[in-house]
Amino acid sequence: MLKSIIVVLVLGSVCVQAAEKKRNWGYSNTPKLPSGWRVHDIERPQPEVVTPAQNPGGAPSDAIILFDGTDVSAWMGIKQDNPKKKKYNPEGNMLWKVENGYLECTPTGDIRTKEKFGDCQFHIEWQTANPRQGNSQNAGNSGIFMQRRYETQVLDNFENRTYADGMAGCVYGQQPPLVNACRKPGEWQSYDIIFQAPRFDGDVLVSPAYVTVFLNGVLVQHNQEVLGPTTHKKLPVYKPHGDDAIQLQDHNNNTRFRNIWIRRLNLTADNARSE
Ligand code: MG
Repeated sequence: MLKSIIVVLVLGSVCVQAAEKKRNWGYSNTPKLPSGWRVHDIERPQPEVVTPAQNPGGAPSDAIILFDGTDVSAWMGIKQDNPKKKKYNPEGNMLWKVENGYLECTPTGDIRTKEKFGDCQFHIEWQTANPRQGNSQNAGNSGIFMQRRYETQVLDNFENRTYADGMAGCVYGQQPPLVNACRKPGEWQSYDIIFQAPRFDGDVLVSPAYVTVFLNGVLVQHNQEVLGPTTHKKLPVYKPHGDDAIQLQDHNNNTRFRNIWIRRLNLTADNARSE
């Protein structure tokens, strides 16, 4: 009998120790944060595992690859079915050039992704012509249009003056970059863009778009409010829309692109604990 009691006590003690060991990754007796979660809450869900790329700038495991150096199946051209127009493209074919691992803009019109996106993290690398083939807005001009409306300017701004809200890294026509972090013409440059899509309720704008941009790893836009679709010589005006494609601009310069990937995000997800 005594033996049995000792065995039960020892086993009980082992179980308690195991349980305590198991629970030592968090707490259930700490004060609550405004989100409803406790400080170091043991019940708080673990973030999803994402495997980063082996090399800086590479696509992590949850990215959608938009261009890997050869495959352009994620892209299409912009339909132009008026044969009198310069960029006539009745089928909306992707007519940019692919060679040596990059995609090169040809004077055939913008291209866009087939898929549509909302909030996202977007990576792209770009190279303007060396030697430079024009100046001001005609030097390596292209652009990344989030949701086909909101342009982060692509431009060769290395010792090339133009209006501040039209520089590389600007929200075009609205907000200059925080600094000019351009490399020399002919050098590969990178953009990492975090885009929060605008929210609409019917015809009403509930929340504008916001954009954060790194140019060559340097912060050039910090959660910058976007005032509406970017335009030339006009004020921006929001019109309701849903998710839409990423569009790359043909501005009659042979700017090149490579290593393009995107991650879908939900930047206004509710972080609070549901009771
Ligand atoms: Mg542009």
